[in-house]
Amino acid sequence: MHAVRNLRLCTKDCVCLFVCPTGATDTENGQIDFEKCLDGCRRCVDACPSHALSLVMDNYPSRPAKDTAVVEALMNFMEQKHREESLAKALAASAATSARAKLAKALAVSLRILAEDGAREAGYMIPQSTASKAYLEKLLAERPVVAGKQFPEAELRELLQLL
Ligand code: SF4
Ligand code: SF4
Repeated sequence: MHAVRNLRLCTKDCVCLFVCPTGATDTENGQIDFEKCLDGCRRCVDACPSHALSLVMDNYPSRPAKDTAVVEALMNFMEQKHREESLAKALAASAATSARAKLAKALAVSLRILAEDGAREAGYMIPQSTASKAYLEKLLAERPVVAGKQFPEAELRELLQLL
């Protein structure tokens, strides 16, 4: 373990400077000196009045692979949320009052966020931003040539449809 400083919380009152046995907390350069913070003794963490210091691990374990059943359950969850989002959007479009339309739209957004969380947890990052869509459309229009590679038109079109 070693200490790190959250610079936004640090008020530079230098209490940590007095308690650190190795001088690792010298505030001149902003961060804790990794080489000097030898044992993660947490004296500075406990002394800091601003809660600006914390301990982090030197090495983090690698992320275990997800079980297929978990990924499948998350994908099903995502598809279900997608169906519910479509229903919420249809409700918004046919709502009798603006208040109901607003509520249905909010529900659609919240269902979309839930679906995206499910996809992320399943191990997929969804490039859902407008910028990603514009970039894919640009690629399709310009069809850049990469030596020895075939332009992946079908994949790009499928991705755009999903977006
Ligand atoms: S004790 Fe906390 S607030 Fe004070 S200088 Fe050190 S990190 Fe910053
Ligand atoms: S954890 Fe201990 S050695 Fe490391 S910076 Fe804080 S007081 Fe110094």
